[in-house]
Amino acid sequence: MNLIFHRQTLQAAIIAIAIIVGGAPLADEHAPGVSASESLQLLLDGNQRFIDGKMTHPNQMPARRIEIAKGQHPFAAILTCSDSRTAPEVLFDRGLGDIFVVRVAGNVADQVVIESLDYSVTHLGVRLLMILGHRSCGAVTAAVLGHEEPSDVGPMLTELRPAVEATQGKSGDPVENAIRENVELVMTKLSDSPELSSMVKSGDLKVIGGIYDLSTGKIEMLK
Ligand SMILES: [Zn+2]
Repeated sequence: MNLIFHRQTLQAAIIAIAIIVGGAPLADEHAPGVSASESLQLLLDGNQRFIDGKMTHPNQMPARRIEIAKGQHPFAAILTCSDSRTAPEVLFDRGLGDIFVVRVAGNVADQVVIESLDYSVTHLGVRLLMILGHRSCGAVTAAVLGHEEPSDVGPMLTELRPAVEATQGKSGDPVENAIRENVELVMTKLSDSPELSSMVKSGDLKVIGGIYDLSTGKIEMLK
């Protein structure tokens, strides 16, 4: 009796382990697959196809959906704005499971954003993180215009304020200046974060920045 009980218990345990390993909870864990330089080239190639109107729409068919249902292995992570004109999968001509995306107005990085991106690096093996701002960003425009009314700022404008203050008085368009500064500040914030700094220092994670032009479709890479 005891022997049968133990055998049944053992079988149940083996089935439970198989479900856990084969299912969603652990299926995302994997070794890094695509290097930062390979990842950047994939993004740049896709953006060029998008600019030229020669998209191939990779990984958007039902077979891809089925292929990645048990686990995702994105080759890049992108933090960009919620603006409806800046969808990374479209700008980079990619499909399901290719890019781990975090979108928030003004592409700012609060703690939730940082931890989301950290997940893609730590658990999904992402080795390239792009901060993608865009020209004519409404959130940054609001931050620039609202800078003189500090009593009426919410969390988002608070996140954007350092970029506005850092560019105040500089020559050129104040909104465009703040957009660029914001991307650079977010790059620094993420690179220095407790979650990601060790990976950046060891060279296992590359953090890059870019500015997307709504008209041309081109992404200007920041150094
Ligand atoms: Zn925006």
